[in-house]
Amino acid sequence: MRSKAKINYAVSEKAMREKIDELRHDLERARDDMIDIMPEKISEQLKKYLLCNNHDDRLQWWYESLKVITDSTVPDPEFSNSWTGKRANCPLCHGGNNWHYNGFSLPEGLRRHLEGNSGAHACHILKHMDELSFDYVERRQSEAA
Ligand SMILES: [Zn+2]
Repeated sequence: MRSKAKINYAVSEKAMREKIDELRHDLERARDDMIDIMPEKISEQLKKYLLCNNHDDRLQWWYESLKVITDSTVPDPEFSNSWTGKRANCPLCHGGNNWHYNGFSLPEGLRRHLEGNSGAHACHILKHMDELSFDYVERRQSEAA
C-alpha cells in the first residue's frame, strides 16, 4: 500500500507578506493601466491622484474628477432626444442602461452613477480609482511618518 506523503503546507510569514506585496503591486499596476485606456481628458485628470499628499487633497481630486468626467462626456445621439434629454453611457465602465432609457442623463444621472448615490448603480471603475488614490495617499503618509 502506498503511504501518503506528508506535505508541509505551512508557508512562512515572510513568504506570505512577499506574496501579498506582489499582488498589491499587480493590482496597482492594473488600476494604472485602466487609467491609460480612458478618454484623454479623463485619463489626465485621474492621473493627478499622484499629486495628492493627504486625504483632503484626495477629496478635492475626487470632486474635480467627477466634474471632468461629467463635463467631457458627449451625449450619445442614439439615446438623446427632446423627450429623454441628453444621455450617454458612462465613459469609464460603459454602463448606462436603466428601466426606461439607455444611458444616464447628463450631467446629473451620470454624476449619481459615479458617486453611487440615489440608488444608482455605482461605477465600479471609478471605485477602483478611489481605492488606487486611497492606497497611494496611505502609503505616502506612512512613508513620511
Ligand atoms: Zn461607470
